[in-house]
Amino acid sequence: MSESEGKAEALADAIEHGRQARRRLAEMRGIFKRIETERASQDEKWGPLPRAHGMDKWLAILMEEVGELSQAVLQMESHDKAGDWVANFEKEAVQCMAVLVAMVQQFRRQREEAKS
Ligand SMILES: [Mg+2]
Repeated sequence: MSESEGKAEALADAIEHGRQARRRLAEMRGIFKRIETERASQDEKWGPLPRAHGMDKWLAILMEEVGELSQAVLQMESHDKAGDWVANFEKEAVQCMAVLVAMVQQFRRQREEAKS
C-alpha cells in the first residue's frame, strides 16, 4: 500500500468512526429526550421535587417500575401477541430511568440544602 493509499484508508476509517459516533449520539439523545418528557410528566402528576418522602420510598417506587418492566420483558419473551410489549418495554424502561433521575435530583438538592 502506498503512502497516499494509507492516508486515504485512515481518512475513510475516521469518517466511518465519525458516522458511528453521530449515530450513537442521536440514539442516546432520543432516549434522553424520552426520559426528560417522562420526568416532566412525573412532576405534573406528583408535584415538583423535592417530594415529601425519603429514599426508602423512592426505592419502592423504582421497584414498582422495575416490576412493570419485568412484566413487559416476560410478555416479550413469551411472544405475547395480545400485549403491546414493544411499546411497554420502552415505556417501562424509560419510567425506571426517569425515577432514578428524580432520585438523584432529589438527593443532590437535599445535599445542597444541608450545606447551606
Ligand atoms: Mg410503569
